[in-house]
Amino acid sequence: MADQEKVITVKSPEEIQLMFEANQIVAGVLELLRTRIRPGLTTLKLDGWAEEYCRDHKGVPAFKGYRGFPGSLCVSINEQVVHGIPSKKVVLCEGDIISIDFGVKLNGFFGDAAVTLPVGKVSPKNETLMRVTRESLGHAIDKVRVGNRVSDISRAVQTHVEKHGFSVVRQFVGHGIGTDLHESPEIPNYVQKSKSSPRILEGMVLAIEPMVNAGTYKVKVLKDNWTVVTADRKPSAHFEHSVAATSNGPVVLSVLADRENEVFLHS
Ligand code: MG
Repeated sequence: MADQEKVITVKSPEEIQLMFEANQIVAGVLELLRTRIRPGLTTLKLDGWAEEYCRDHKGVPAFKGYRGFPGSLCVSINEQVVHGIPSKKVVLCEGDIISIDFGVKLNGFFGDAAVTLPVGKVSPKNETLMRVTRESLGHAIDKVRVGNRVSDISRAVQTHVEKHGFSVVRQFVGHGIGTDLHESPEIPNYVQKSKSSPRILEGMVLAIEPMVNAGTYKVKVLKDNWTVVTADRKPSAHFEHSVAATSNGPVVLSVLADRENEVFLHS
């Protein structure tokens, strides 16, 4: 196909192993932050811890400098959907929900994952928003099977989210991942009826990332040109895993292998 957008790379088992190693650093960062997040911390402090852990494990923070992004960690609070910039002026408060998204480059390959976590005790509605978003990612991962289409992933997210009265963001989508942070195919979290959808092939690695809003699906980008917020300023949650399609089904690369990856259980 002539269209560069349509070129989807598949990875060998050796390449998937390298991607697993990059994603283990991502998972380690998210788990570390889970244990440290509390009211009173600045989001810049979280960024520092994330970068330090990453470099200690020989990884390179993938977001830092990406199209000029100033931080290592994307940190998005409450009505912020994604791409929030770490700041010493932003202090975590009891009741906030905080989405942390981290990317790593290691040995030429990228890893990418995200979770939304509570700061102290949060409202029942926000608890539900986080749970439904996390569950929708689980349903999506189950569709990463050779022969399915990307639209099966999209449908799994959208169906679960809308059943609970929430909405899925349209303007931002998941993506293939490999030697580039963002590869084809795009992975929308909603079904695009007018478009044909690629088949999932053995060796494809997909960063699936439902962004789920409590209110309208519409979003805006703030004047900093990065921070995405909900148009109605209602809260939003975001979960992401990097997942390989194998002959044995989906393999989640961004779950810690050496112990219980609590960040995805307790968020
Ligand atoms: Mg991503």
